Amino acid sequence: MCGIVGVTGRQDATEILLHGLEKLEYRGYDSAGIFVSAEDGQNYLVKEKGRIADLRQEVGDDVHGSTGIGHTRWATHGVPSRDNAHPHVSEDGRFYLVHNGVIGNFAQLKAEYLADVNFKSETDTEVIVQLIAHFAKEGMDAKAAFKKVLSLVDTSSSYAFLLMDSQAKDHTLYVAKRKSPLLIGLVKILTWYVLMRWPC
Ligand code: GLU
Repeated sequence: MCGIVGVTGRQDATEILLHGLEKLEYRGYDSAGIFVSAEDGQNYLVKEKGRIADLRQEVGDDVHGSTGIGHTRWATHGVPSRDNAHPHVSEDGRFYLVHNGVIGNFAQLKAEYLADVNFKSETDTEVIVQLIAHFAKEGMDAKAAFKKVLSLVDTSSSYAFLLMDSQAKDHTLYVAKRKSPLLIGLVKILTWYVLMRWPC
């Protein structure tokens, strides 16, 4: 089973994300990853096949930031591997995405809009983040590009998404759901905490 967690605020996101993923561990998963963005513009993407303990070791002591997203994956498209683990990043390095669920028409979207894109994974999820970057390049802001992509996803699909725009200075987390549950909470006034569970 899989899970996503995200946080934005003034606390150190890394420990909140890892702790959140550990709480979801009992559900089962094949790989895990986090993306953390710091105030000084530093970005960190760490992914690992296997257990959260392995991810924690890979993260080490140097990953810090106030906004981030994390994921435990239960593979539906593509083998369990570091490349297929989430978060996925757009080719231009701008957008980062975690996803629980399945995108029914990912192959059609890939063929129609993304013929020139170099994919790093076999997942349905990567199509979504590359598509967001595609529409952003056409001039849409992050929210408009995200909404445009959601409008193209077919009704057979299920998703809980957390999206980050690494160019944004405002630490916004973009969130969307269909069928998969998503919980949003306010912690200690300044920290938003998102925790999602889906029986995949
Ligand atoms: N369909 C996505 C994948 O295979 C997400 C799987 C999940 O919900 O963990 O990577």
